[in-house]
Amino acid sequence: MSVNERTYIMIKPDGVQRNLVGKIIARFEERGYKLIALKLVHATPEHLEKHYEDLKGKGFFPGLIKYMASGPVVAMVWQGLDAVKTGRVMLGATNPLASPIGSIRGDYALSVGRNICHGSDSVESAEKEIALWFPEGIVQWTSELEPWVLENN
Ligand code: UDP
Ligand code: MG
Repeated sequence: MSVNERTYIMIKPDGVQRNLVGKIIARFEERGYKLIALKLVHATPEHLEKHYEDLKGKGFFPGLIKYMASGPVVAMVWQGLDAVKTGRVMLGATNPLASPIGSIRGDYALSVGRNICHGSDSVESAEKEIALWFPEGIVQWTSELEPWVLENN
């Protein structure tokens, strides 16, 4: 766990279609994380197959790629204390029905195949996903708010 940990968070096509972009971004901003990369992308199936390469062979894989390629996604990198694990807690469980109220999936979704958001599951996958979605790199900037969010900063 580090104060400068980075995680890849993505609003899936259903989150964009349902106008949840602002609400999801607001949760990360309000928690105290720093936005260091952001773009709207209509990804190709090939790109999405790379993103989800660990799941190749699963029965739901073709449907997952079709869903993810069905419209634009919002690709983001958020940085801050324990960003990977806490980001996953903020998202909720893979199955929205098993997600606590107060989590993004627990508040806005019902179906595992329409669970509106993605978050990296480890620091290693975050690094891989950030490189895949942002080959151009992220934006370095100093947050004036940081001393008010993090002790000893
Ligand atoms: N998924 C699905 N059916 C399943 C399991 C997963 O459609 O039985 C989809 C779901 O959208 C999930 C994504 O595949 O978010 C990636 O699966 P993973 O196990 O990595 O879950 P996540 O890390 O997104 O919680
Ligand atoms: Mg995953």
